[in-house]
Formats: sequence, structure tokens, C-alpha cells
Amino acid sequence: MAAKKDLPLRVLMIAAHPDDAEYGCAGTVARWAGEGRQITYLLLSSGDKGSKNPGIRPGTLATLREKEQTAAARKLGVHHLIFLRHPDGMLENTMALRRELAGSIRTVRPHIVLAIDPWRHYQTHPDHRAAGLAALDAVYAAKEVNLFAEQLVDGVEPWRVKDVYLFWTDSPDHFEDITQSIGRRISALMLHASQAGKDRKGHAATIRKNAHETAQKAGVAFEYAEAFKHLKTG
Ligand SMILES: [Zn+2]
Repeated sequence: MAAKKDLPLRVLMIAAHPDDAEYGCAGTVARWAGEGRQITYLLLSSGDKGSKNPGIRPGTLATLREKEQTAAARKLGVHHLIFLRHPDGMLENTMALRRELAGSIRTVRPHIVLAIDPWRHYQTHPDHRAAGLAALDAVYAAKEVNLFAEQLVDGVEPWRVKDVYLFWTDSPDHFEDITQSIGRRISALMLHASQAGKDRKGHAATIRKNAHETAQKAGVAFEYAEAFKHLKTG
């Protein structure tokens, strides 16, 4: 791991839904935020289909889930959020989405991108596959001067992300110590009240157990870990 003084400052977390980050990488987000990194959340959808209750309309649910996500992000030390508001459950890695994400990357100018691993085996949620692929394709496009060149006006320039860390991966090769931040991750997850089941204690215990097993499997010295596939892109 790089020394603190060498840590890049800006991080962009790209996910499909409110709560993806809290399930996948929020212990790392909380720790990095505490170390002074500026972290931006970019949500492709606002989770407007994420309810079994037919009485809640998608628009109402989207508003509620954006509030929950904003509160969860604040708990982690993230104060900048971007909601692109694409329809939940219908995400596609289109050229239009790639263009939109490349524009966000060129504006936020992150040194690091956190994203879903689209190549996780048997990943059946179409939004998670699409979000991971769109993020990676946009990282590629953002650095190319001749791609989406219409964006390169008024001081906007191509931007090369240095590192991508993919969460929910089957091929982990990078582990972050979340021993000090797992409590905040769980508290942030619980702020997604529309998604939380009744057994909050059991849910928290499962998250701790999984993070502990991740650390054990990785053979690292810390108690709780989050696992990533690291791609060097810069
Ligand atoms: Zn999701």
C-alpha cells in the first residue's frame, strides 16, 4: 500500500444502485475519506424498482432512496453525489451511457475509480454487469482526445484515471483494511431503511463474518478486509 503522503486525492465510485457501495466497498470509502481523499458517488440509477410493495410508485421510491444514499454517504465522509437517474433494472452499456460517464470522469478528474466487477461469475443482475462495463469503457474513453471530443470545451480535458478497483470480484488481488471502518460501513448500510430487512443484528453479523473471512482468505494481518481486482490504467 502506498504511503499516506502519496495517496491520490480524488476517488469516483460508480455503481448501479443506492446501497451497492455500502455492500461492496464502503469500509474502504470510509477509511479513505478519513485520510483526506475527496470521494464522489456516481449512481447510475436511483433504485426506483427496488421494492416488493406495489403501493410505492417508482418516483416516490427513487426520491426516498436518493435521500437514504445521501445520508449513508455522509456517514462515510462522502459529500458529493451524482444521480444520473437511469431506470432501475433496465441499465444498458450503451454508447450514450459511456459518453455520459466519460463526461463525468472528465469533470470529476478522479485518480481512482471504484466500480463493480462486470466479470464476476454468474452475475445475474443485468444492472450490475452493465454498470461495471460502462464504468470501465468510460475510463478508457475519458483519456482519449478523439473520443467524445465535443466534451473538450471550456477547460474540459481528457482525463486518465490511474487505478481502478473492482468490487464484488471473483479475482481479488488487492485487499483494504477496514478494521477501523467496518462499523461505519454497517451504520451506513442500515440507513438504506427501505431495503433493510427486519433482522438488522443478523445482517450486521453476516457482514462482519464475511469481511473477516475475506481477510483470512487473503492471509492479511488485519481483522476485516474488502477485496478488489486492481487494474492499472494510468
Ligand atoms: Zn445493486
